[in-house]
Amino acid sequence: MSVSKAEIGRRMRRFTETCRASGLKLTHQRMEVFRELAGTEDHPDAETIYKSVSRRVPAISRDTVYRTLATLEEEGLVRKAEILANRGRYDANMDRHHHFVCTECGLVRDFYSEALDELPIPKSIGTLGRVESTHVQLRGICSSCARGKR
Ligand SMILES: [Zn+2]
Ligand SMILES: [Zn+2]
Repeated sequence: MSVSKAEIGRRMRRFTETCRASGLKLTHQRMEVFRELAGTEDHPDAETIYKSVSRRVPAISRDTVYRTLATLEEEGLVRKAEILANRGRYDANMDRHHHFVCTECGLVRDFYSEALDELPIPKSIGTLGRVESTHVQLRGICSSCARGKR
């Protein structure tokens, strides 16, 4: 599934502004890696990002893509979507959102919910540590997997 042109534009603007503000050089390769991630809702892993970027930028190496993702993560420009325990998947949507995960095919989609944003945090968490962010993950069977089953 692809992200709207307007949203990609917004993500790219935020990306370039943040790079400028933090003094991170806007190299062609960084732009291309981020553009790839900004244009998809798939929350791809590094290997998938590498494969798609190298279709457009054949000269780019796997190592560069992996290092670029790590750098962008350090700078807060992308984040790891802790979705499927065994795969590091990336997310360029830095707005507050939640995830729907298909346990059958691994599809991941963003969704927004003010009600979930405001879920009360149990007091008992205080004994475990300080909460810095929350997100809700709904797991289930996506509609195309459900169709395939019938
Ligand atoms: Zn599915
Ligand atoms: Zn997401």
